[in-house]
Amino acid sequence: MANILLVDDRPENLLALEAILESLGQTLLYANSGEEALRQLLREDVALILLDVQMPVLDGFETARLIKERRRTSAVPIIFVTAISKDEEQVFRGYSAGAVDYVFKPFNPDVLRSKVSVFIELHEKNEQLRRQAEQLKEQELAELRRESEERYRFLAEAQPDQIWTSLPNGELDYVNQRALDYFAVSFAELVESGWTQVVHPDDLGRMLDRWQIALATGEPYENDLRFRRASDGAYRWHLTRAIPMTDRGGAVVKWFGSNIDIHDQKRAEEAQRFLVDAGAVLVASLNYRSTLAAVAKLAVPRIADWARVDVVEAGRLRTLAVEHVDPKKVELAFELAQRYPESPDAEQGPPLVLRTGKSELATEISEERLEELAQDDFHLGLVRELGVQSYMCVPLVAHGELLGVISLVSAESGRRYDADDLALAEELARRAGTAVENAQLYREVEERAEAARVLETVGDGVLLVDNDGIVRLWNRASEEITGISRELIVGQPLGDLLPGWARVTTRAETMPLVRDGRERWVSISGVAFDDGVVYAFQDISDERALERMRQDLLATVSHELRTPLAAIYGSAMTLNRRDLEWNDDLKARLLNVIVDESSRLTTIVNDLLLASQLDGGRLDVHIESCDALGLAESVAAAARTHLPDGVQVELGPVAEGVPPVAADEAQLRQVLDNLLDNAIKYSPAGGDVRLGVEAATGGVRFTVADAGLGIPAHEQERIFEKFYRLDPDMTGGVGGTGLGLYIARELVRRVGGRIWVEPNSDQGSVFSVEIPAVPEPDVTHMGQKTVLRS
Ligand code: ADP
Repeated sequence: MANILLVDDRPENLLALEAILESLGQTLLYANSGEEALRQLLREDVALILLDVQMPVLDGFETARLIKERRRTSAVPIIFVTAISKDEEQVFRGYSAGAVDYVFKPFNPDVLRSKVSVFIELHEKNEQLRRQAEQLKEQELAELRRESEERYRFLAEAQPDQIWTSLPNGELDYVNQRALDYFAVSFAELVESGWTQVVHPDDLGRMLDRWQIALATGEPYENDLRFRRASDGAYRWHLTRAIPMTDRGGAVVKWFGSNIDIHDQKRAEEAQRFLVDAGAVLVASLNYRSTLAAVAKLAVPRIADWARVDVVEAGRLRTLAVEHVDPKKVELAFELAQRYPESPDAEQGPPLVLRTGKSELATEISEERLEELAQDDFHLGLVRELGVQSYMCVPLVAHGELLGVISLVSAESGRRYDADDLALAEELARRAGTAVENAQLYREVEERAEAARVLETVGDGVLLVDNDGIVRLWNRASEEITGISRELIVGQPLGDLLPGWARVTTRAETMPLVRDGRERWVSISGVAFDDGVVYAFQDISDERALERMRQDLLATVSHELRTPLAAIYGSAMTLNRRDLEWNDDLKARLLNVIVDESSRLTTIVNDLLLASQLDGGRLDVHIESCDALGLAESVAAAARTHLPDGVQVELGPVAEGVPPVAADEAQLRQVLDNLLDNAIKYSPAGGDVRLGVEAATGGVRFTVADAGLGIPAHEQERIFEKFYRLDPDMTGGVGGTGLGLYIARELVRRVGGRIWVEPNSDQGSVFSVEIPAVPEPDVTHMGQKTVLRS
């Protein structure tokens, strides 16, 4: 039944049309405007439109144009129904708007009906044709589909991989021959078991879970699974993938799947991962025994069911570690090793590797072989229990020396070791060997670093000279003692920077060392080794100086004491003689000698005492205000009482009004006494000695000038050292202890003053002593003494 759309703005016209067309038995649709007609056409398929021309808003022509514009309705025939015009122009307009015919009112119902019938018939014919075409297309499509299916099966059969398809519920509906051959099952068997017979039991649960999820969600499926290869019973890793084919509505119509053998790739990846992990374990410890034990642990179960590490001790193997996932089995292995120790001459296993240094690979151990190896039935029983299937033993080498043997055994996993596995085990052993070498190296480096740290902190100079006489090591103490930096000396011949040192031997000896123009002394001794000699040396300058000083003291003191003692002794002996006639004058002279020499002895002893007090910091200093000029006058007067011939003591230059000085008067007097005594003593040819007092910045300067022997410029500092005396040739044989100037300098220092010597203008020397003045504001209070402990 076809739809006929009647369009007219007048209901009575529509009614009239209905009355005429009803009898045709078609479905009549009504529209009372152009817009309504367009709306109806959106909803319904229409075979013919009867369109009134004269309508308000959208007239018939305009409506026809819009209908023709729409793709879906452009072919629908339109008959214009009109009463208004019959002129040609109108008719032309109607046809150009897409009309197939015109019916003019009032119309003959029969004519209208027969016109409409023609169009309906035409429409039905068209419909029939369309349906036929569609059917044809479907048939063709089905054929095509069948062909394409055949083609993809063909393709699938040609593939090197396993290809399969399944129904939306997961049931297999096709498996290529390659897969069937691989599993050695028929298609029907495989459909029946749905893979469960051929997947590794450990992977089965995961397979079912993921497959169920994929079936439920329609998401692609992917899994890594081990499938059992029928030819050798080995489980090999496969990548299994399936993607769903869906219809237009998105429903799954089929699953297309493949299993790709990735075993070798996966094993290579696993081996790599294992080696990386092993590397981390190997560097973790520097104790190689614990390291090797850790390697055994790591190997189980990843590459072996059993792992054993033996190390060579005194030429024999000792088992260091045994690993198995089940601790009970480890006990069993130990029991076996204890009851049936491996013979060092064994033709297999670790003893063989120890003897040959080469790896051993046993891919498959047959029952016969087991029986052959077993020593008795009990032994066979134990070995069977261990379930050894396949094993490999590799040597562990470090520094070119065989250190032990790593054994990897496969049992319950059913794995058969092949050449690739052996290569992995050898790589593991090689890395373990390197780790052991590194650990040893590290220890050596540590020890060396430790030694270097010690060398840097010891107080002794340590140097290493190689067999070519080149300095290779120069520690910090060496730098400090010699003042030579290591940058300067390391790599140079020792004798270049330290002439004289080139001839040092391993014998202990004392060597001079000139540094900053001054001589120092070191005691050096060496130990020879293959690559050269290591020397150690100490700076003994201070000890040596002390020793020298002690010797000087002994020499000086004994000499200085002996002279007055000899004089006293001689005088006393003379006085004691009974055979001589004594006059009073002679007696008095001899007694005078005794008195003078005794007082000289006292002076020497006092000086020694004072020097030792100064050294020990035990001398009290009483600072007070002293009259500088008065003191100078008094010292000069005292000196004049015992002047030798040809020497005069004068005051001068003397300035009036010099300020009082802050000093310990008795000590200052001793200083000036000593300077005057020296001036007199060292003027053997006579001459003027002048004691001057002048103001100086911040204090007063005393000067003692003589025209005596004078002091060479380079000795002007040293004469202030303890016991230091000029060469006897320069002092004209004048005696002394060498303590006077030392004491003078120390006393002057303690009151904040200074002492020095310069040559006198013509001849002799000028000693100057500067003492600080009493601070101004305190002058009035200076009667009090300040006691200082020096
Ligand atoms: P001593 O006079 O007992 O030897 P000193 O310490 O007083 O000791 O003097 C140290 C040395 O300085 C003397 O041995 C002497 O060689 C030298 N000396 C000191 N005063 C003079 C001087 N006025 N002229 C020349 N030499 C001097």
